[in-house]
Amino acid sequence: MNRLREKVCIITGAAVGIGQACARRLAQEGAAVALFDLLDSQGEALAAELLQAGCASRYWHVDVAREIDVSGAIDAVAAAFGRVDVLVNNAGIAGANKPTHELTEEEWDRVQAVNVKGVFFCTKHAIPHMRRARAGSIINLSSIYGLVGAADVPPYHASKGAVRLMSKTDALLYASDNIRVNSVHPGYIRTPMVEHHLRDSGATDLDRALTELGRLHPLGHIGDVDDIAWGVVYLASDEARFVTGAELVIDGGYTAR
Ligand code: NAD
Repeated sequence: MNRLREKVCIITGAAVGIGQACARRLAQEGAAVALFDLLDSQGEALAAELLQAGCASRYWHVDVAREIDVSGAIDAVAAAFGRVDVLVNNAGIAGANKPTHELTEEEWDRVQAVNVKGVFFCTKHAIPHMRRARAGSIINLSSIYGLVGAADVPPYHASKGAVRLMSKTDALLYASDNIRVNSVHPGYIRTPMVEHHLRDSGATDLDRALTELGRLHPLGHIGDVDDIAWGVVYLASDEARFVTGAELVIDGGYTAR
């Protein structure tokens, strides 16, 4: 119940999916949660739900690809809650699913803008607050596709590889400030992103498509959002105080082969 007591956590892409679950579990463990997203009604509803449950929570409309949005919101979080202890860089998009030779520059750039530059902007503007406190935990959502390849969505896989190494670089840069930086590598998790991806790939029976996707994982099924959220809670907490530059793989064995 109190693994994150008095910690202030920012979660990007918090309105649905993995980010929403992270917000719920971090709040359940006693954190104050700042929710960043573009989906205002879902974001506001989640903040209201958490407030109702007695957790400190507030929603900000933030496009992580816009530095002005990010810097203003992170400073506003520090002003509202007094500090920034944890940043969960979760916002991400799948982007165009075309082979490399058919992609446009714009399609490539859009994915990098959200998935890579978004992580850079949020990290850049959270670091000064964490340095002042001489403590912090930054958790970057990479993917199994930051570790291994697959024959689809090339800009997405490139972005997740980048996030993996950005995490290690920042882990080394800020270790002396007692700021830990780690990446999380989920296998397939049932979220709006995966449902859209399956529909875009022509799936008509969603449950069947999800079952088939599950067979790619040695444990035989895809994951649940909470499978990732509990990993994020661990990395956010002082239980992980000696963990930095690490890759937390939560993938039902997908990358073990
Ligand atoms: P999702 O699409 O279900 O939710 C993503 C959230 O990010 C949404 O609320 C969306 O509005 C928000 N978002 C998108 N662009 C944004 C922007 N520019 N600024 C602010 N918010 C923005 O995705 P998800 O499946 O929950 O994935 C969350 C993270 O986990 C992503 O980084 C994704 O790449 C990663 N991931 C997901 C899976 C999976 O199977 N679902 C697997 C590996 C990694």
